[in-house]
Amino acid sequence: MKYQIIPVTPFQQNCTLLWCEETNQAAIVDPGGESPLLIRAIETLGVKLVKVLLTHGHLDHVGAATRIAKHYGVPIVGPHKYDLFLLEELEEQCAQFGLEGCLQFTPDRWLDEGDSVVFGNQNLLVRHTPGHTPGHVIFFSESAKLASVGDVLFAGGIGRSDFPRGNYADLISSIREKLWPLGNDVQFIPGHGPMSTFGDERQTNPFVADRL
Ligand SMILES: [Zn+2]
Ligand SMILES: [Zn+2]
Repeated sequence: MKYQIIPVTPFQQNCTLLWCEETNQAAIVDPGGESPLLIRAIETLGVKLVKVLLTHGHLDHVGAATRIAKHYGVPIVGPHKYDLFLLEELEEQCAQFGLEGCLQFTPDRWLDEGDSVVFGNQNLLVRHTPGHTPGHVIFFSESAKLASVGDVLFAGGIGRSDFPRGNYADLISSIREKLWPLGNDVQFIPGHGPMSTFGDERQTNPFVADRL
């Protein structure tokens, strides 16, 4: 599996294209905005998009989901249904932040703990990781040792838990009980900022290091 990170929106959200080299099929994680830029990237790579995957319902992660899904005629998959309340107020939220062109939607498929998402020969394991939002999920490729973790964990930081229906204790247990068991050697793509590994964060992250 290969990947390319394409930061979008004023929030510099790490929208990520994942693709299977054997079949050329691709999935896009968190197309938060700037659909023309994302479509150009997909065309330039020459991959065939088959799914839109969402980690959670915040506007900088889902703002262009409908446009991308319609453009390619592909389903929107995720997040967990507990984020429905965020999707229901999407257009309102986008207007507040001055982001144009967000369209309301309901995913074609909600995700839950232990689900799998497939594109080409690639299989992604889904873990339900509440705390930043109640319906947050992460995607994990066992074979690539790569995780797309949205706003759960950052290099040197953790997601905010002060948004509506956020919960600090849930966030910490999501990180320790759902992410760490995937392995210290797992590289992760956070929703914002640079990549890191779970092992490095367990050593040095000021919020969730093992010594704390
Ligand atoms: Zn978020
Ligand atoms: Zn975010």
